[in-house]
Amino acid sequence: MMDIITTDIVIVGAGGAGLRAAIAVAEENPDLKVALLSKVYPMRSHTVAAEGGAAGVAKDEDSLDNHFNDTVTGGDWLCDQDAVDLFVREAPRELTQMEHWGCPWSREADGKVAVRPFGGMKVERTWYAADKTGFHMLHTLFQTSLKYPSIERYDEFYSTDLLVVDGRCSGVAAIEMRSGQLRLFRAKSVIIATGGAGRVFPFTTNGAIKTGDGMAMAYRAGVALKDMEFVQYHPTGLPGTGILITEGSRGEGGILVNKDDYRYLQDYDLGPPDPWPRKKAMELGPRDRLSQAFWHEQQRGRTISTPHGDVVHLDLRHLGEKKIDERLPMVRDLAISYVGVDPVHAPIPVRPVVHYTMGGIDTDIDAKTALDSLFTAGECACVSINGANRLGSNSLTELLVFGARAGLGAAKSAMAQNAHAEESAIQEAATMARDRVGRLFQSVGGGESVSGLRREMNMTMEAGAGIYRTDESLRQSCTVMNDIRARYANIELEDKSNVYNTDLIQALELGAMIDVAGAMIVSAQERKESRGSHQRLDFTERDDERYLKHSLAHYQADGDPDINYRDVVITRSQPGERVYGGEQK
Ligand SMILES: Cc1cc2nc3c(=O)[nH]c(=O)nc-3n(C[C@H](O)[C@H](O)[C@H](O)COP(=O)(O)OP(=O)(O)OC[C@H]3O[C@@H](n4cnc5c(N)ncnc54)[C@H](O)[C@@H]3O)c2cc1C
Repeated sequence: MMDIITTDIVIVGAGGAGLRAAIAVAEENPDLKVALLSKVYPMRSHTVAAEGGAAGVAKDEDSLDNHFNDTVTGGDWLCDQDAVDLFVREAPRELTQMEHWGCPWSREADGKVAVRPFGGMKVERTWYAADKTGFHMLHTLFQTSLKYPSIERYDEFYSTDLLVVDGRCSGVAAIEMRSGQLRLFRAKSVIIATGGAGRVFPFTTNGAIKTGDGMAMAYRAGVALKDMEFVQYHPTGLPGTGILITEGSRGEGGILVNKDDYRYLQDYDLGPPDPWPRKKAMELGPRDRLSQAFWHEQQRGRTISTPHGDVVHLDLRHLGEKKIDERLPMVRDLAISYVGVDPVHAPIPVRPVVHYTMGGIDTDIDAKTALDSLFTAGECACVSINGANRLGSNSLTELLVFGARAGLGAAKSAMAQNAHAEESAIQEAATMARDRVGRLFQSVGGGESVSGLRREMNMTMEAGAGIYRTDESLRQSCTVMNDIRARYANIELEDKSNVYNTDLIQALELGAMIDVAGAMIVSAQERKESRGSHQRLDFTERDDERYLKHSLAHYQADGDPDINYRDVVITRSQPGERVYGGEQK
């Protein structure tokens, strides 16, 4: 028998989305008990690493329509437009709410909230707190959550499985990392807010904890993963570590040059249409286009080779020391610490790096999934407001808008239920979790190591499902991933102890990543067109007739996922060409 902890609502994940959801529950009904689980201390969630800012209409010359249009165009029309409408409407309110909770937004001299330009946003609307926006937002949410006694934290609890009783999500199983014990959380509703899955790839801005655990949990429980083929590369990561140099650095005026010191983006179709400012977008083009431009420069032999792969240069020198220190202090620190370059005096070497998973757990506009009583929000969810390519600074706002909706939905769902699932049914539902963890401990002589398999997975994902894909490359990756999946059964833990067994946690994380990677590859194989971040060399055009649709990957225990499709919600913006000015693609 495993220990059962009974609560009203379980939230898995205490990053921006999870904390915002917890606060929404407490505000809706302070009598509802919330168990907030996180595999790390909340302030170590990846939200803390966000630098650039959060989008929401702030200026008189901007409008909700503008924000809507930028988002839908940026997403190459794969966004659900009802969701985007709701999102842009709620955004300013949520950001102002953050201010009231204490978030120190940067300000103009006249006291108004300052907004900076961001890629693909044709009007300045990105709110920021210097270049530590995520830190300040997460801190504000964390501090605010402490006000509510109904929110009980379970830090360093690693959730492994959803517990489903009679077709309803009735809790989760989680390992208490300190003791190694499996605990069962029984609840009336559950929210997954576990963040993205960038770690599936070798070179990523994502922290080590971004392993797609929640996506895999929902997927294995029968909820579809939506639009998983869409993985965003950020054009400016540091070579070697993958550490992000924020788009804010380009927003403030930084430029990208190739090995001939040539500002190569002028050769590509990236500029904003009228009315804002009447010149090409260049460095402020959307991320997918900028990363693709890098690839083309590389093919033409115009990048700079380094021991950590090819790079181009991000030049900030013309901004001057004062502006760099005032607006981009962290960028300066990071460049000095990690590549030994002071951007005041020399350009920073950068290359595209996996940054964000547009796809995720299929959810509706109210953060509700197809599994009764299960809600989801944040990067692990796919609503979808990001479509085929997220615009930078939309996701921090997405955490707030949809985190709050998930909290509200889960609260209402819990209040509508009289009773919890029976304890015996909860124990029964946890059999799979127990077996899975037990198997990892029992495996002896299998000879496979977590780090070895993870490396192979990383490499095949980059080779087969990177910035550009082909049927051939995806097919090869699929074969390798199936082999890795089979060999996963032979993983042998080096550490068989109970206390803080990171070896065990990493093995479970790898299991999640293998499932998520499989969904990415097969979804990419089936989408025979190029759209947003999904670019195929063998199908170079967007094909609205066949693929103006969300892909839904359904888990199969013994093979590749089944893929089917759902229409995109189009309300008022018919698919058009994603033109940003300029001449050449
Ligand atoms: C370097 C970087 C910079 C970024 N900059 C920006 C920006 O400027 N603007 C913008 O809009 N977006 C930005 N993004 C994207 C944005 O920050 C993320 O999409 C967002 O913060 C994700 O928040 P989240 O709450 O969904 O997940 P996270 O903040 O990643 O939190 C996930 C939570 O889930 C928990 N968890 C995960 N798995 C388990 C498990 N198995 N059991 C228990 N708990 C678990 C973790 O402990 C954590 O608490 C950036 C991303 C990165 C990586």
